Amino acid sequence: MPARHVNPRNGFYRQAVGDLTVTAINDGTFRADFDLIAGIDHAECARLERAALRALPPLMTMNTFLVETGKTVALIDTGCGASMGPTLGMTTANLEAIGIAPDDVDIILMTHLHLDHMNGLIDEQGAAVFPNAELLVHEEELSFVDDPSAPARAPEPTHGFFAAAHAAIGPYRSRLRTVKEGPVLPGVAAISTPGHTPGHTAWLMESAGDRLLVWGDIVHMPSIQLAVPEAGTVLDIDRELAVQTRRRMLDMAATEGLKVAGIHHDFPAFGYIRRQGPAYSFVPQVWTAALSQAAS
Ligand SMILES: [Zn+2]
Repeated sequence: MPARHVNPRNGFYRQAVGDLTVTAINDGTFRADFDLIAGIDHAECARLERAALRALPPLMTMNTFLVETGKTVALIDTGCGASMGPTLGMTTANLEAIGIAPDDVDIILMTHLHLDHMNGLIDEQGAAVFPNAELLVHEEELSFVDDPSAPARAPEPTHGFFAAAHAAIGPYRSRLRTVKEGPVLPGVAAISTPGHTPGHTAWLMESAGDRLLVWGDIVHMPSIQLAVPEAGTVLDIDRELAVQTRRRMLDMAATEGLKVAGIHHDFPAFGYIRRQGPAYSFVPQVWTAALSQAAS
């Protein structure tokens, strides 16, 4: 049973993106640690969190996103699954609350193969949670986790992720498809965002003149990394490239006025990026019960 302070089946927010329906699904939150963050002083992290009126230690959010095309039910990432405590792993409960059972999911679109994004692929016994889903992973991501020499090139805190990735994707190997850039479904395309991991991928939804970009670990702690995009994490495989990619994506979102949503943005995670000198800020999209904001 979940802890009493957890309120599962309370974390979903659905909206139209053209002819697609995209639902933010909250997988949970947890009290994180600045030990995750690299390239910035921890006292400065605390100052930035306090300046954003956030409690310490910082509350970090995990989301997944359901994309319904009318023909296909896709899930972007799978959350933490059963392995990361009672305040996380609520994706399947929240999917159930909107009438989506695990066997309704046709395709899973991965941002990358790190624990908090892939552990929801399997249950405590290591069996597939989504029995009918094809698994889409960036080609570079798969070749990296399958390369026996890769751990030697990866930061020490990520060494356990290789065995975990093999366990999580194991039951899906026979229905695993690799992607690079470009369309994977009508209105859904992969965008390569390497650095945090070699095959780190964002997913762009584009339909009937409406657009939404869902990204993974471009941002882990929004109050810190939007203010200081150079702030990376100890899990970055190539931190310099991760910083470059973060700047490129934030710049693109701000310049194009592109609506974004992030796996680690505060739920319900939809909003816009505003440029503020060398820094950025996040402007949440106004909540509405209307499915389409254009019609509201
Ligand atoms: Zn993450």
